[in-house]
Amino acid sequence: QAKTAGRNTLRFFSPDLQVAINSRVAMEEGLRLAIAKDQFLLYYQPQIDDGHLVGAEALIRWNHPENGVIAPGHFIPLAEETGLILPLGQWVLDTACRQIAAWAAREDTAHIVLAVNVSALQFRQPDFIERTFATLEQTGANPHNLKLELTESMLLDNVEDVIAKMTALRSRGVRFSLDDFGTGYSSLSYLKRLPLDQLKIDRSFVSEVLTDPNDAAIARTIIALGQTMGLSVIAEGVETEGQRDFLSGLGCQAYQGFLFGRPLPLDEFQMSLRTLTSVSQ
Ligand code: C2E
Ligand code: MG
Ligand code: MG
Ligand code: MG
Repeated sequence: QAKTAGRNTLRFFSPDLQVAINSRVAMEEGLRLAIAKDQFLLYYQPQIDDGHLVGAEALIRWNHPENGVIAPGHFIPLAEETGLILPLGQWVLDTACRQIAAWAAREDTAHIVLAVNVSALQFRQPDFIERTFATLEQTGANPHNLKLELTESMLLDNVEDVIAKMTALRSRGVRFSLDDFGTGYSSLSYLKRLPLDQLKIDRSFVSEVLTDPNDAAIARTIIALGQTMGLSVIAEGVETEGQRDFLSGLGCQAYQGFLFGRPLPLDEFQMSLRTLTSVSQ
């Protein structure tokens, strides 16, 4: 037992484990500090429907003073484990809504529907509805220009609660997209009950849609499902014209991917708006 072991109570920890714990603690501390210091940015990636820019997805980046711009894959999982996703998610919603309000004042951007990723922990907050309405009101954002991206896993929690939250937000015009669709476990009978607007085909099915018949079949099924259920379908991760044309042949109308534009900082995104329509035709 550690107690009888004398002065070194850490003797059961291997050096490797100690290093892992230290770096995790350091990382968590770094994240906490970064939130306090406001070191985050939103990048914007265009969404194209029927050849026109109709929206964008807001994607968070950590603008680290020493390490440069860090992608969300490197810090969102830890933020979720530590609960720091709550202040971070609120920052994202706030920033996105302020951007919606700013875009509303410009003729070429007023129509943009901005999609925001919402974490399970964030959506599960008992006051998520009130928080979102408060953010919309404080920023002056039109709820019709906000789309929330949920994932299948978070919808399995408590169906009634999920439906109640979605219905309340939707009654004011907020839209809902089901992100990474096809990678989770939602049952079709359950899906039917959700007040969704859109299914988003996961990038993993799009990347090999031309070469893998299984991925092609999944994409075809999702598009047909969307049509049957009266939902729009957007394909994520479209990188080539071949993929776009194939998906278009299956009845897909909306796309997001490097073919149309990478996620960009605000200034560059706004500059790219002028040229975007010509690329997307
Ligand atoms: P996601 O919501 O599925 O976002 C799409 C990801 O696919 C983005 O990665 C985007 O850069 C990438 N992508 C889009 N088109 C292409 C393409 O044509 N090719 C390739 N190779 N990649 C493409 P990103 O920005 O690194 O974000 C990764 C994930 O991090 C997101 O996946 C989302 O789950 C999460 N995330 C990003 N921002 C937020 C946020 O504000 N809040 C929360 N909770 N999660 C976020
Ligand atoms: Mg997303
Ligand atoms: Mg996605
Ligand atoms: Mg994805």
